[in-house]
Amino acid sequence: FDTVSILNVPFINTTNTAFVHQLQQDINHHANRFVVTANPEILMYAREHPDYQQVLRQADYIAPDGIGVIQGAQILGTPLPERITGYDTLLELLKWGGQTHRRIFLLGAKPAVLKQVTATVQRDYPGIEIVGACDGYFDDEAAVAAQIVAAKPEMVFVATGFPKQEIFIAKYRQRYDALWMGVGGSFDVIAG
Ligand code: UDP
Repeated sequence: FDTVSILNVPFINTTNTAFVHQLQQDINHHANRFVVTANPEILMYAREHPDYQQVLRQADYIAPDGIGVIQGAQILGTPLPERITGYDTLLELLKWGGQTHRRIFLLGAKPAVLKQVTATVQRDYPGIEIVGACDGYFDDEAAVAAQIVAAKPEMVFVATGFPKQEIFIAKYRQRYDALWMGVGGSFDVIAG
């Protein structure tokens, strides 16, 4: 995708439909991908934290999550077609994953929330294979990374909030070729 830069962060200039289609192709090719959905809060944080800015630079796709990003692009005269949220992208990938029997790993949220998300995903997308799940309050991140690698997922959804989730993905994605995506508070929403 071509990109539109806002505060030095390059956003993909595309639609939800085209983006999800691209991710499906990436997964089919066993590509190693790092997806960030960034809202204005993340942009501000990145501006103040060069280390985090460096992490964002490693992302393959940064999607405009939040109406503020869309408005910013408009004001700068380089409009983006629409908002692309982590939550919507997650749901689309789960839907497709159910139809095509994909392997997923769920990382993040509180234990009770994660348990509920696991049950809901199994119920609503029975074709999906949840090959592993771990709540977001772990001490040994290297052990969690090893657990992910051993589970051989095609998609790894990390819901530990920013900046933690992006830092974790940037650090460990090289260990296994999959789609690694930060999804913020999405597990809480799915758990209801
Ligand atoms: N979380 C976690 N581990 C932590 C801190 C937070 O798993 O050490 C989870 C938290 O339970 C919640 C999500 O991360 O499910 C954070 O959601 P929030 O809406 O704050 O994140 P954002 O969307 O702002 O990135």
